[in-house]
This record gives sequence, structure tokens and C-alpha cells, in this order.
Amino acid sequence: MSFRATILTLYPEMFPGHLGTSLAGKAMERGQWSLDTVQIRDFATDRHRTVDDTPAGGGAGMVLKPDVLARAIDHASENDNRPRLLMSPRGKPLTQKRVRELASGDGVIIVCGRFEGVDQRVIDGRDLEEVSIGDYILSGGEPAALILLDAIVRILPGVMGNDLSGLHESFEGGLLEHPHYTRPQIWEGREIPAVLTSGNHAAIARWQREQAEQLTRERRPDLLEKQSKK
Ligand code: SAH
Repeated sequence: MSFRATILTLYPEMFPGHLGTSLAGKAMERGQWSLDTVQIRDFATDRHRTVDDTPAGGGAGMVLKPDVLARAIDHASENDNRPRLLMSPRGKPLTQKRVRELASGDGVIIVCGRFEGVDQRVIDGRDLEEVSIGDYILSGGEPAALILLDAIVRILPGVMGNDLSGLHESFEGGLLEHPHYTRPQIWEGREIPAVLTSGNHAAIARWQREQAEQLTRERRPDLLEKQSKK
């Protein structure tokens, strides 16, 4: 069975977005994954098709109504046990580990928030897993959902041209990746490090490992701390 993503959104026209192009788009054409959208507004019941209302307790902005959103979620997850995610800046920060777990399953149902967010009762009542893509605020969950799906789709079996290239990347070994070089040998007076053109595979591997460790120490010491705690 191929990986299936269902997106609940007020802006279905934002999908598949960039995932309809390049390797992800080709993989979609080959049937290796699929995406469908559910328009949350279709589950409003009043004449004006209202999806939001003012926040209880006052304050700025609007909140997505729990009844409307719950109907959309129930429709999307009938006879379905794919994880139900809510894109949210309050969620657990997304990691490559979680991306791998999700990619190994049947698919995902993703709710994209808008306005100030969604009524807390629908998060609790429908068991939504809140996922954040970083410590900044977007205007809606749609670009966050596209980013999450991008990370998942590229590691689905057979999607990347060279399946091995996923193995050495940043984070996969708990480290940032070493620097890359390609021809020309000298560019604006800067040379490719000699070891990389030495043909000595053991020395190359050692150099790359050292570079990765040094970069991680300088830029992301938190990653090394996490590793030593494992
Ligand atoms: N008032 C909220 C922010 C709402 S932003 C707060 O301060 O927490 C509107 C919607 O954009 C959110 O419901 C969520 O779906 C999405 N969003 C914004 N930033 C995000 C982030 N960093 N990661 C994932 N989704 C995000």
C-alpha cells in the first residue's frame, strides 16, 4: 500500500504545491504516494458557512470552531488509523526521527490551523498530535504541512534517485553533515581539500567524520549532548 496524505485546510488550492514537481511529483505520478485535501468549510452548517468565531475570554483574532473541524476530521478518518496531526507552533518540534516513523506508516491526516488556532477541545477530543516546524509563527498550517510532507516523501522507498544519498545526511547520524565540493578543482583561488581527491577512501571517511564532528560542535552542541545522553 502506498503512503497516503489527507490534508484538512481552508485553502486546498495550496496543495500539492511544490510537491507536484520534481522527484516528489514524479513519485506521485508513479503512485508511490498520494495526497487528497478536505475543505474544512464544507463541514460548516450555517448559511454563511462559518468556520471561525471570536475567542472566549476576549482578545484578538478568531478561533477555528470545534464542531466544524471535528466533522471534517471524522469524515477524513472514517475506518482509518493513520496518525492525526495538527500543525502548531506549540507542538513538539519536528525531528528526522519522527519523519522516519511517519514515513514507515500508511500515511498521515494533517490539520492546518488558521487565525489564532483551533479550539482546544477538538485537539483533546480527536487526539491530535501537535507538530511544530520551528520557533516562529506562520500565518497558517499549510506551508508547515508541505514541509512535513516534503521530509516524509523524499525518504519513501524508491522516491530519491539514489537511495543511499539519504544515509549520510545531517541528523541521520546525530551530526551535521560534512562540507561538499565539486569541480572545478580550483575556483576563485579556492581548492578542493586534497584528501578528497587522494583516492584514499579510509582517509576520506575519517576527514568527513572529523569535519562533521567539528561543525556540530561549533554550530549545534545540543545535538552532541543528546547523543551522549543516549
Ligand atoms: N496564536 C497561535 C499562532 C497561530 S498561527 C500561537 O501563538 O500559538 C496560525 C496557524 O499556523 C496555526 O494554527 C498553525 O496551524 C500554523 N502554524 C504557525 N506557526 C507554525 C509552526 N511554527 N509550526 C507549525 N504550524 C504553524
